[in-house]
Formats: sequence, C-alpha cells, structure tokens
Amino acid sequence: MADQNAPGAIPVVTTPEYEAMVIAAHPDDAEFGAGATSALWAKQGKKIVWVVMTDGTEGSDIPSLVDKEFMLTREQEQRMSCELLGGQKVEFLRFPDGHLTNSEAARKAIVRLVRQYRPRVVITHDPSQLFLAPDPDEKPNDTGYYNHADHRATGTIVLDALYPGSGNPRSYRELLLEGLQPYRVHELYLFFSDKINTYIDVSETIDLKEKALQCHVTQFGPQSELAERLREWAAGTAKEAKEKKGLDMQYAEAFHRIKLFVPPQEESKIDLSEAQQ
Ligand SMILES: [Zn+2]
Repeated sequence: MADQNAPGAIPVVTTPEYEAMVIAAHPDDAEFGAGATSALWAKQGKKIVWVVMTDGTEGSDIPSLVDKEFMLTREQEQRMSCELLGGQKVEFLRFPDGHLTNSEAARKAIVRLVRQYRPRVVITHDPSQLFLAPDPDEKPNDTGYYNHADHRATGTIVLDALYPGSGNPRSYRELLLEGLQPYRVHELYLFFSDKINTYIDVSETIDLKEKALQCHVTQFGPQSELAERLREWAAGTAKEAKEKKGLDMQYAEAFHRIKLFVPPQEESKIDLSEAQQ
C-alpha cells in the first residue's frame, strides 16, 4: 500500500453517503436480481441510487420502433419502478444496448458516479456467471442459456471501476478537479451468481418487487404473469437458505457478497469479540 502520509498524498474517503448503488445492464435486470433487497433497505430509511448502463433499445421484437422514443419509454418505466422500490435517484448512462464493452468511457462513468454518491454497498451482475443450464439428463425438456454479454460486461466494468479506479488517488485524477475525491466502497453484492454466500429475507418486500417489475410494460405486457413465478423463485431461494445456512425465511434473494473495506471501528469490534472467546 502507498504511503498515505507522503507529502502531497490525499486521503481516500471511506464514509458512505448512500447505502447502496444498484448497477444493472438494462432496465428491469436489477429488479430481478435485487429489487426486494433494495426495497427492504429503502424501507429501513437507507438511501439507494440505481444506475442503468445501456439505453435498453434492443429489448423488443419490433424492429421499426424509434430508438430514442423506446429508450425514453423504458427509462420512464425504470423511474416508476425505482420510485416504488423507494430509490432516491436513477442514473442512465445510455451506452448502446447489446454492445456494451469494458471501455475506458464505461469504467470512468462508474468511477464518477461512485465518487459522487459514495455508496457503502455496490450491487451488480456477477461477471463470472456464463452458463445457467440444468443437467440435460435430469431435466431433458428444460433449456439452458448463457448470460447476456451486457450483463457480463457490466459486472466487469463495475469491478474494474471499484478497484483500483474509484479508491485510488492517482486513478482518474481529472475527476479531482470536479471535486470528486477517491472513495472506497465497503461491500460488493453480486446477483445471479453460482457462488452464493448471503441470503436476504425479503418476505416483507416481495410484493414491491412484483409491482416494480410490472412497471416494465414494454417487457412483460400490461397483465404480467410474473408474480407467481417470482414468488416460487424467491421461496426456492429461501429453501436453499434453510438448507445451506439454517436460516428461516419465507422469501429470499441471494448474493455473492464480498467485503472490500472494513471500517476501523468495525475492525476493532471484531478483534475485541475474538479476544474474549
Ligand atoms: Zn439484461
């Protein structure tokens, strides 16, 4: 680690302003992955900001739709959804849907937002998740699929933006001129992961997740039949939480959770309890 007392060194900010920044490739992705968790945290009075990486213009079967109009419609759906979930802000980065890459522009856009909002937690796609397919012998009639390239790109962009980008005083120095100091995110929550280690009890906000997804009329139609499927899925996750961690939940969302920074106070608390054992 660099010498933080060296002449000219500037401090890295570690005090959060927002509880969470939820970053997804397309409108509606993050509702599936973390909608009920973010609604729960919002209900607890915590501040949440949502970020959508792409313009969502490939999310339709109608080639004749006008890109700009369709983008604005989807953004409006996303705003309504986030309002229902209790989010404070939604940021649209409008990279072209279907063509997102881990570019300098994309990484810098995320560094800028992270330094601006200072979220304690960042929630996003697991970039390492490629195939999501059942065993064809066990479930011969089910199809598998693989993760959308924009989802994988989003996860990689976010990871690269958080480390070393956001928290490094010598990375993106031009942002210092905008008053955006280096900031260190405390935790990362990855959804749609096969390395789940964290279950969140979302029994009190599962209904908000359903309603939020129903805001995305361009995706699911006005009379969405999603509700039942969502509950089945969340109940299955809760069952897994019981089996793997002995947790009692009716409905759950699951994440691969990674701690990136432990504030010194928390560190000393942990040391104390360990010393007492
Ligand atoms: Zn998506």
